[in-house]
Amino acid sequence: MSRNPRYDILFDSVPIGPVTAKNRFYQVPHCNGGGYRDPSAVAEMRRVKAEGGWGVVFTEQVEMHHTAEITPFIELHLWDDEDLPMLAKMSEGIHEFDALAGIELAYSGVNGPNLYTREVPMSATALPIRTFTSDPVSAREMTKRDIRDLRRWHRNACLRAKKAGFDLVCLYGAHGFGVIQHFLSTVTNHRTDEYGGSLQNRGRLMKELIEECKDAVGDRCAVTLRLSLDEVTGELGFSNSEARDLIAMHAELPDLWDLAHGSWEDCSGPSRFREEGAQQELVRGIRELTTRPVVGVGRFTSPDLMVKQITSGTLDLIGAARPSIADPFLPKKIEEGRIEDIRECIGCNICITGDTTMSLSRCTQNASFMEEWRKGWHPERFPVRGPSRSVLVVGSGPAGLEAARVLGERGYEVVLAEGKAEIGGRVTLERKLPGLSAWGRVVDYRQYQLSQMANVEIYLESELNAEQVLEFGFEHVAVATGATWRRDGVARYHVIPMKTDPATPVYTPDDLMAGNLPSGKVLVFDDDHYYMGGVCAELLAVQGAQVELVTPAAYVSEWTRNTLEQATIHAHLVRLGVQVTLNRGMMRVDGEAVKLACVYTGSVTEREVDAVVMVCSQESNNALWKDLVFRADDWKESGITSVKVIGDAQSPAPIAWATYAGHRYARELDEPDLGDALPFKREVVVPEKGFRLAGPS
Ligand code: ADP
Ligand code: SF4
Repeated sequence: MSRNPRYDILFDSVPIGPVTAKNRFYQVPHCNGGGYRDPSAVAEMRRVKAEGGWGVVFTEQVEMHHTAEITPFIELHLWDDEDLPMLAKMSEGIHEFDALAGIELAYSGVNGPNLYTREVPMSATALPIRTFTSDPVSAREMTKRDIRDLRRWHRNACLRAKKAGFDLVCLYGAHGFGVIQHFLSTVTNHRTDEYGGSLQNRGRLMKELIEECKDAVGDRCAVTLRLSLDEVTGELGFSNSEARDLIAMHAELPDLWDLAHGSWEDCSGPSRFREEGAQQELVRGIRELTTRPVVGVGRFTSPDLMVKQITSGTLDLIGAARPSIADPFLPKKIEEGRIEDIRECIGCNICITGDTTMSLSRCTQNASFMEEWRKGWHPERFPVRGPSRSVLVVGSGPAGLEAARVLGERGYEVVLAEGKAEIGGRVTLERKLPGLSAWGRVVDYRQYQLSQMANVEIYLESELNAEQVLEFGFEHVAVATGATWRRDGVARYHVIPMKTDPATPVYTPDDLMAGNLPSGKVLVFDDDHYYMGGVCAELLAVQGAQVELVTPAAYVSEWTRNTLEQATIHAHLVRLGVQVTLNRGMMRVDGEAVKLACVYTGSVTEREVDAVVMVCSQESNNALWKDLVFRADDWKESGITSVKVIGDAQSPAPIAWATYAGHRYARELDEPDLGDALPFKREVVVPEKGFRLAGPS
């Protein structure tokens, strides 16, 4: 198939300073939780994106000098020449597919607590460090000499970046993370010298840095600027109109303007609160201020919307982080006329949790993300099937669907049996909850893929028991039967069932998703701490219930701090009239009253309510798997060689865990058993001076 001529414009080449991007697909810098700890994993992930057709592929933020670093977060380093080989490996991989390699240089200033290097942070103005965790550290004000040093460090970093083979050097002045923004913004710049005050003065450092970087490497590298479009910080701060004034003032200064929103939370808003192309208004008209190319982001996954960005004169290049994570082959699929094969990002922000939990990013839609090197998983290529042929997958939630898809790709004969009349499991239910409709893409993508495979059959309304599974006689059985929300309050606050009184009805999220909604005064007890408690409160409030959300945590939907949406959720619930009660556990449900206890003092308060919704924990639906294990002696006669339980049926977790479990099951079927060996590669530090183990083995 060839591409639709409607999309030709997306494949125009675009000159950027001394280099030329082969098309308009621009993977903007994004974190991945790997950074300096897992650089080969990062390099391979970027290489795969270049293979997938992105014209420009960037690193994440690279800490360009040791006096500004953001420990505990794990990014890349460019502290001295020792960092060059690893960075060169990255750019080489990107060049293999004729993409341009970009590096984003970050000097964290007032955003860098320097917990690792123990250097005293410095920034435009002396202020406490501004981080997610409010570290008890302050930045000192930069002297003129410091500014001269900073300029030299940038020059050196650019020269190193060039040596490492990068084609674009981006100076980071966005998301509140880069020193350029700290100087531009009146929130963080209170200087009275020529670097403070007027916009021209606040932009002086930016101008000097760009000019000097161009002077150092501009013969071969484009020097670009990543700028925040609007800090959204009230009266103080770098507003959208100031951003426009600045761009007009320095229109031709950088080789490209890379436009991001204000904070990272704003820029990477989840689909629950932000639509595709949400930054449109902030970007509109900026392109007319400059002849330099302009790139912007907006969780773009629709090629038509991308085309509109170009033809309307809004952007020159389509910036993407999350869409390139969910589908590294997005450009290739458009080019090859395979629009239906695009695995669209669902905007859940699970990928961001890799960075915020300092682990390794995972993606709900793309289970191979950050496993490209560790496990050799390619997002579009799968090993052909092993010696066995047939697999029965029971349950069509995200785990079962992904298992069936990858097994199908590998060439197995697959039957997917689903008890309900519709596929999708929890996603089919959760996509109907407020704000979660885009999550349905987890099902839609897989449903279409499965419909294209002659070797996969789906049977609906087929709730199977062990006897039936044994009768069918498939060689392998994957049990992906999901989980059920508990009604008894067991989670973290209660580890054994809570005392309840039948006079007060107790609901679970499953009841709500089935359309069984309580009314009147409803208390939602959230001891789960991810999105479900807040979403249930929202659902009920919108239906007119008088809702109080009670949680033992210090934050509403506490874990969503990792997905950058916690503050938005809290504000959203308050606006909907939900009463938020933090730091309170629910002791028991007595008739029409509920007893709450302060988690710190134990002081007890009572609430009279009509109903309680328990958003506590989920219990695996593993009865079928247990029955099959119990009947292991019968497998041989039925021709069964393996029965595995995967996804929520094994252990409840977010959807990304389920797609990963399904993917892994399908990848590893018939593969050699690794026994006790580590199931992934990692990078191990070698001691200095060739230390060898001399002891007895
Ligand atoms: P996961 O997140 O692990 O994929 P889900 O709860 O989303 O799990 O999906 C599990 C699916 O399995 C549901 O659609 C459910 O209807 C289905 N299911 C559960 N038990 C059976 C069974 N015995 N036979 C067929 N389908 C089942
Ligand atoms: Fe998109 Fe979610 Fe994947 Fe991130 S984890 S790329 S938000 S689907």
